[in-house]
Amino acid sequence: MVEADRIKYLNSKDIMDRPDVIYWMQSSQRIEYNHAFEFALESANNLGKNLIVYFGITENYPQANERHYYFMLEGLKEIKRELEKINVRMLILKNSPEAGILKLLNHAAMIVVDRGYLKHEISWRSHVAEASDCSVVQVETNVIVPVEAASSKEEYSAATLRRKLEKIKERFLNVIKETEYMGAYETDKNFPKEIDIEDVDAAIAKLNIDKSVGQISQMHGGTLEAKARLEVFLKERLYKFDSKRNDPSEEYCSNLSPYLHFGQISPLYVYLKVLNYQISSAEMAEGRKAFLEELFVRRELAMNFVYYNKNYDSYECLPEWALKTLSKHSDDRRAYIYETKDFEFAKTHDEYWNAAQLELLKYGKMHGYMRMYWGKKILEWSETPQSAYDMALYLNNKYEIDGRDPNGFAGIAWCFGKHDRPWGEREIFGNVRCMVYSGLKRKFNMAKYVQKLEPFSHI
Ligand code: FAD
Repeated sequence: MVEADRIKYLNSKDIMDRPDVIYWMQSSQRIEYNHAFEFALESANNLGKNLIVYFGITENYPQANERHYYFMLEGLKEIKRELEKINVRMLILKNSPEAGILKLLNHAAMIVVDRGYLKHEISWRSHVAEASDCSVVQVETNVIVPVEAASSKEEYSAATLRRKLEKIKERFLNVIKETEYMGAYETDKNFPKEIDIEDVDAAIAKLNIDKSVGQISQMHGGTLEAKARLEVFLKERLYKFDSKRNDPSEEYCSNLSPYLHFGQISPLYVYLKVLNYQISSAEMAEGRKAFLEELFVRRELAMNFVYYNKNYDSYECLPEWALKTLSKHSDDRRAYIYETKDFEFAKTHDEYWNAAQLELLKYGKMHGYMRMYWGKKILEWSETPQSAYDMALYLNNKYEIDGRDPNGFAGIAWCFGKHDRPWGEREIFGNVRCMVYSGLKRKFNMAKYVQKLEPFSHI
């Protein structure tokens, strides 16, 4: 049973007398712990229909390149195999998602779709709801507490959202029991031409996508890989997550963000796993508390931000006080002003910043604490705060495997004052919190971090 708050009827059309219930998979690229998939499967069983899972691959996904496509296709390949095992057909079309689903209307009794919070994700779904002649139902499964149930407005900070989440979270912390599929494998041959992704390299070669940023060999997509990483995290890292997660020279983070971004692992599944993990020390209990705060409160604050703030992808999203103070200091003298290529290819005067940028270029995932320093320094070394904002978004979304995510938009906004409070006034930053080189040097073994990235410094 899927909780009612997760379900939204996107139109008021009927269930049609056609053979299939179609799950339009988009933001939740998994079949485990997926409320939308469960809802579609139960609907197919109840209506006596077959279930089809559809995925549309557009070659023009906003700001996506080979790095992102490769990771995504690895996950989709696994899903297709898993679906075959339970007798469900998956159709992968080379089509913009919202256009491809409309080509399947003559099969669709109803369409079920998962939920996304970015502008294009919302507009794709409303377009399909309008253009379809059957019922289109959205089921929210990439958050623990549905965004509108958590709050009806944009929240000021983690503290204000935390209070609301804590009050209602129990209602949504329900284990998902997988329902057995009762329908048949859809064998109809009259579907549009599918694309074969069994050989991911060959599929990528055939796609006309931006190939300027290559795949990451150290990180593979898919639910199995995500779950394996979670196990390693629980066994080897959770106990020190509170005290060590900020240290860039150590490896105590989970590295789950790319999997959460593509919906290859469910945040609810991760939450319950961590919550129920056998705790063997006070240190580990602190690690658990800190991790659940990041995964739940911080992550869902980002969803709240992009959903309620229509300017989430631009400088204008910032709070009044931040815009005012940054504007007051926009003519302050900058000791360094860098151009795109200097930032992009890690050619600044700051070895720590360069190491962070190299980590991003080479591993597709910058350490969480360095992301903050990285964003703050782009503000400090750009001609204007507006151009700094655009630069941070550009680099983040181009190179992070987890880029183009609500967390990325919120993380960059945070560097410029969002979800934070005013601090003591200083040059360039005004009242926006700043971070300094000496702070990193004092707190962490930065030489070790820099050394790790050294082999790539010729770039
Ligand atoms: P862990 O520390 O293991 O945390 C577990 C999970 O909690 C993460 O996977 C993530 O879902 C969530 N989480 C952790 N920290 C934050 C946070 N500060 N805000 C929201 N959720 C959080 N995250 C992205 O997913 N995509 C991005 O593009 C992105 N860009 C960022 C840019 C900047 C400038 C900043 C300051 C932060 C950005 N973040 C982004 C947020 C955060 O840094 C990453 O989610 C985190 O580093 C991912 O690594 P992990 O999975 O090992 O995190």
